[in-house]
Amino acid sequence: MIYLDNNATTRVAPEVFEAMRPYLGELFGNPSSAHSLGRTMKQAIENAREQVATLIGAADTSEIVFTSCGSESDNWAIRSVLAAQPSKRHIVTTLVEHEAVRNVCRLLESEGYEVTWLGVDEQGELDLDELRAALRPDTAFVSIMLANNETGVLFPVNDIGRIVGENSEALFHVDGVQAVGKVPIDLENVDLFALSGHKLHAPQGVGALYVRKGVSLPSYIIGGAQEHGRRAGTSAVPNIVGLGAACKLAHDDDDHSRIRNLRDRLENGILKQIRNARLNGHPANRLPNTSNISFEYVEGQNILLHLDQLGICVSTGSACHSTTHESSPTLRAMNVPYTAAQGSIRFSLGRYNTDEDVDTTLNVLPGIIEKLAAMSPYDQELHAKT
Ligand code: PLP
Repeated sequence: MIYLDNNATTRVAPEVFEAMRPYLGELFGNPSSAHSLGRTMKQAIENAREQVATLIGAADTSEIVFTSCGSESDNWAIRSVLAAQPSKRHIVTTLVEHEAVRNVCRLLESEGYEVTWLGVDEQGELDLDELRAALRPDTAFVSIMLANNETGVLFPVNDIGRIVGENSEALFHVDGVQAVGKVPIDLENVDLFALSGHKLHAPQGVGALYVRKGVSLPSYIIGGAQEHGRRAGTSAVPNIVGLGAACKLAHDDDDHSRIRNLRDRLENGILKQIRNARLNGHPANRLPNTSNISFEYVEGQNILLHLDQLGICVSTGSACHSTTHESSPTLRAMNVPYTAAQGSIRFSLGRYNTDEDVDTTLNVLPGIIEKLAAMSPYDQELHAKT
């Protein structure tokens, strides 16, 4: 299998697996228990908290709260900021957020909140003047991602946080789920920051929310006093230990210049060999592992299935609903034409990809696209264009 879908999820690293192993065996206590086994578990959580804080540059370990996933972290941040300041009914976010933010904001809109949806240009970048103009005295929070999950385009969260701070009293939440472990994190102007274990070689089912010291965030899950009263529920110690170990691995062994070289070779090879291929997203201001390429006039879903038959895993950039055939909101916001958005494929590389993976993909993909283009009802337009 050639796995080029690392933005969807990643394989648990062997180092992470080994760190977790004792906590799936003899170390099984409840970290809230007062006996020595419980205290051992509690110590493991605090160790992991330190590892997460170190990777993202949090000033204090108390700023890290463990959750079950990135979506929980995003939901908690947004819902609780609003609950803490009920008189403020305005929200600023972007049209290209992940569903974990976008759908919460859509729901809030239906509940009567006013949402300003910032657009992006054709390369997926924000206009910071538009952000500045959107901020108001009743803006409760601004939620903007650091790295886009589909295109990998990076938003300048440090500048954004500064603008938010200078022009409003809103809190600034960053969805950092796709960025952690791939690019350096700068929390200087950030109040809240979501991350998720399974995007950086920890297991699925664990995430964290960074809550800047001084920001008071009501609990989202009510119950016991775990996580210093900020998130109830018995801690998932093996997963938390895994997240800590994954953060340590990303901190000590940053593999991203190698991954960037592999990604660039794959991308350049595709764009050179395949006539109807075009890159979606800014060519430079991007995650080092992500390449979103449209194959015009060809269905992305068909490309995915053909690659899958050869053991190559990718994603379609168009969350193509079988009935509506809607293309992805991110690509739509970037004004990617429908015929290109429908044929977009996200290649996302990772720690375990090799040169052979790139060679094999470059060997088989042109043939697949040629075959599908020949079957396309738009084939004549395709030939007319090239
Ligand atoms: N935010 C972004 C940018 C994502 O890419 C994802 C997952 O794909 C999430 C949030 C949700 O994270 P999780 O799968 O841990 O709930």
